[in-house]
Amino acid sequence: MTRIIAEVVLVLALLGAGFFGWTQHKSVGSSTEQVTELESKAKAAEEKLAATAEELTKVQAEAKEQAEAAAPLKGKAQELDAVKMAFSSGEILKDLDANYSKQKGLSTERQLGLAAVRLLTLGSKDPSTIAAFRKTLELTDWKGKSKAICAAQNALAAAGEKVSVLSECEGISAVKEAPAKAGGDEHGKGDAKDAHAAPHWDYEGPMGPENWGKEFPTCAKGKSQSPLDIKGPFEKVKVSIATEYKNGPLRILNNGHTIQVNVEPGSKLRIDGVAFDLLQFHFHKPSEELMDGKPAAMVIHFVHKNAAGQLAVVGVLLKEGNENPGIKTLWANLPAKEGPEVMPENVSFNPNNLLPREMDFFSYEGSLTTPPCTEKVKFFILKSQVNIAREQVGAFPFKKNARPVQPLNERVIQSN
Ligand SMILES: [Zn+2]
Repeated sequence: MTRIIAEVVLVLALLGAGFFGWTQHKSVGSSTEQVTELESKAKAAEEKLAATAEELTKVQAEAKEQAEAAAPLKGKAQELDAVKMAFSSGEILKDLDANYSKQKGLSTERQLGLAAVRLLTLGSKDPSTIAAFRKTLELTDWKGKSKAICAAQNALAAAGEKVSVLSECEGISAVKEAPAKAGGDEHGKGDAKDAHAAPHWDYEGPMGPENWGKEFPTCAKGKSQSPLDIKGPFEKVKVSIATEYKNGPLRILNNGHTIQVNVEPGSKLRIDGVAFDLLQFHFHKPSEELMDGKPAAMVIHFVHKNAAGQLAVVGVLLKEGNENPGIKTLWANLPAKEGPEVMPENVSFNPNNLLPREMDFFSYEGSLTTPPCTEKVKFFILKSQVNIAREQVGAFPFKKNARPVQPLNERVIQSN
């Protein structure tokens, strides 16, 4: 019985996530302003989402494909109230978690369902909700699954996460292009004067790092935050790290906070033999980490995740010097304005091109350096720095996108 309810819930949850994203996306203007507007409406829509069965029924009409999936469930509409009760008690989530933890890999739809159940149970801000939606995006093959992608992307955007929303999602969410606001910048700060502006962050001004904690508590309360000023005394450790990065098609985006390159599955980092998949890498200017109090010109963060969901970041500091051929390729293809990932034709890239020869490192337990500043992230900052031309630093489309260094607290920085 539990299983049947869980299956029912999954489909309903799928609809819920789609609807959530849809309500968030529907009335939104140009892509540069989407996220800000979504954020400011997130709370209201969340309530709306949970509100009535009628609204869910309406979604069935809106999203044809989703409605088809739900057709066998029509007779079970009356279960909806019970189901909603179960959401709020957290029982469904517990059952799902128990069921799915026994399975090796979840399908995109199931992962999205799980994310949606978390959304309905815990709210859009809960880190596990966000993590589950992010997982959905990672699982998805980026072709032919646009419904699932759109639902997850829109829900994430509504939760205040910076995600690029695929252009295919526009058909689903009925986005109409509105004229861009005069004077608005790439972060849509024109809306910042809105007193109800919801979670949004920046590297300067009222949404700057010193205020991230208001919307993202871990950023202020966390005791092992990144970045750090790297200076001794160091603890000597015997840990080996080795990269197995592979060539693949270039997938690059400007997410409004940085330039990010998404990496196809197959590139790995091994930490004492344990495989971590390379998900993406991105840039900060100047480097977020300081070496003995001084920043480098820039830093590249290579973000990895292992099968258990642990994150590991390898940081490569960039110092001014000769032109960097790898960065030349990236800069030639980067979208200057915030927007979805682009895949330039016939451009491939191997992240290895950005690594130094030596992999000696400083390491510590840290956090994401952007909201929500989630902790338990392993950091390996390579001792060898890599060249970048002064002109290449200047051509990076963000003036400054570095979080200030954070207190070391009880931590000791390690060195191999
Ligand atoms: Zn970073």
